[in-house]
Amino acid sequence: MPSFFCLYLFRYLIRLNFMEHNLHLYNTLTRKKEKFVPLNPPLVGMYVCGPTVYSDVHLGNCRTFMSFDIIYRYLVHLGYKVRYVRNITDAGHLEGDRDEGDDKFAKKAKLLQVEPMEIVQKYTVGFRDVMALFNTLPPNIEPTATGHIIEQQEITKKIIENKFAYEINGTVYFDVEKYAKSNNYGELTNRKLDDLLENTRELDGQDEKKGRLDFALWIKAKPEHLMQWPSPWGMGFPGWHIECSAMSTKYLGEKFDIHGGGMDLQATHHTNEIAQNIAYCGKSPSTYWLHTNMLTVNGARMSKSAGNSFLPMELFSGDHKLLSKGYNPMCVRFFMMQTHYRSTLDFSDEALQGSEKAYNRLMESYKTLQTLTASPASKENIAALEKKCYDAMDDDFNTPVLIANLFEAIGIINSANDKRITLTQTDIDSLKRIYKHFVFDVMGLKAEEENGKANRALEKVMQLVLDLRAKVKANKDFATSDEIRNKLTEAGIQVKDSKEGATWSI
Ligand SMILES: [Zn+2]
Repeated sequence: MPSFFCLYLFRYLIRLNFMEHNLHLYNTLTRKKEKFVPLNPPLVGMYVCGPTVYSDVHLGNCRTFMSFDIIYRYLVHLGYKVRYVRNITDAGHLEGDRDEGDDKFAKKAKLLQVEPMEIVQKYTVGFRDVMALFNTLPPNIEPTATGHIIEQQEITKKIIENKFAYEINGTVYFDVEKYAKSNNYGELTNRKLDDLLENTRELDGQDEKKGRLDFALWIKAKPEHLMQWPSPWGMGFPGWHIECSAMSTKYLGEKFDIHGGGMDLQATHHTNEIAQNIAYCGKSPSTYWLHTNMLTVNGARMSKSAGNSFLPMELFSGDHKLLSKGYNPMCVRFFMMQTHYRSTLDFSDEALQGSEKAYNRLMESYKTLQTLTASPASKENIAALEKKCYDAMDDDFNTPVLIANLFEAIGIINSANDKRITLTQTDIDSLKRIYKHFVFDVMGLKAEEENGKANRALEKVMQLVLDLRAKVKANKDFATSDEIRNKLTEAGIQVKDSKEGATWSI
C-alpha cells in the first residue's frame, strides 16, 4: 500500500511540475509564443468554434477539431482539469459572414423539402460519426445555438443598454465605430480601423445599418423564414457571432483560458466575438487565441469548385479521382499530425502513402517492444528521449517534432530486437510509457490490428473475385460478369470498370 501511494504521489508531483513549467503556446492575440498560465489552475476553460451543421463536415474542419483534440488531450495528460466546450451552429449562419445571403439551413431545407432541424440532425450525427472514426474525444459540453436563444437575447439587450448596439426595424446592429472609439477593434488580426473601413464596401441605399463595419446581433425574420423566434425586437433569429459569446460566457464565464478555431474565423467571427464580450461585460473573453491553418491539395487551395476537395469518407474509401486507394482513419490522423497545426497542410496521395508506411512502422515497433527481453546494462538514455517528447509538446504542441522523437524510439526498439544494443527493464518500461502517453493518450492513435487484418483479407478476396470476373469477360460471358458486379453492389461494394482494369470501393 505505501509503495502504491508513493507512486501516485510521485506521478502527481511530476504532473504538478509540468503544470507549473514549460508549456508555451502561440497566441494570435499577441503574435508570440507565451508561457501558458491558466487563470484558475488546475482548471482550464477551452472554447472551440464548432461546425455549422448544414452539410457534410469537410476535411479542413476535421483538421481543426483534431488539432484541438490533441491540445485537449495534452492538457489533460499534464494534469489539468479541462472544461472543453465546442458548439454546434444550427441557426443564424448566413452565406456571407457579414449578414448577407441566405440562411444556410433554410436554403438546404428548401432544396431538400425537409424541416431545417432535419438538416441539423442529419449533419450533427454525421459529424459525430466522423469525429469518432478519427478517435477525437467529444467535448465536455456541446451546446447548440438554437438551445441558447434566450442567452443570446440577454447579451444583445445588455449591449444595447451599454450603447454599443442599436435597433432598426427589428434588426439589432453592433456599432463598430462607436466601439472602436474606446477599444481596439482590429486587435486580434493587428489591423487598423481605417484599413478595415477601406476594405469594406460603401453602404448602399438598401442598407439600414449606420456604419459599414456594423454587424447584426439579431436579425428580423421575413414571415416565410423557417427558423424564427420571438424577441423584444419582434420575430427574428440571432446573428452568427453572438452565439459563441453567449455560450462561452454561460459555460466558461466572462474570462477563460483558451479560445480556438480555424484561421478563417480570425478576421470577422472572432474579432466580433471579442467586441461583443467587451461591449457586454468589459472583458475580452479569452487569454489565449489559437488558430489552425488551412489545407491544400497538391499545393493548391482545397475547394469544391476546383474539384480537389475531399470528404473524410472519400478518403477512407479511396473513391476519389486523386486517390489510388483508401486510407484508414488512424493513418489520416497520423498524417495530419506530421504537420504543425499552424502550418499549411498539403494533401496528396503520395504523402498519404508515406504516412501509412510510417504509421505502420510505429505500430509494428509497439508489438516488437512487447517481446523485448531486458539486459542488466544499457547505454541508452531513454529518460532524455522522454523529456524530448515533453519538450516538443510544450513547444506549442509541436507534433512533427514529437513524431521525430518517436522514430528515435523505433530505432532503439529495432536495434534491441536485432541484438545490436541492450536495454534494461527500466528502459523497456520507459519506452512502453512513452508509447502509452504520447502515441495513445496524447496523439490519440489506435492500433488498427484487427481491422487491418480483416481489410487485408478482404483485399485479397476482392482481387480474386475481380480476376475471375475478368476471365469470364474475356470468354465473352457478359451475363456472369454483370451478375458478379450486381451481387457485389447488393453487398455494398461498387465495381468500376476502366481500360486499366476493374477497381472496387465500399
Ligand atoms: Zn464561434
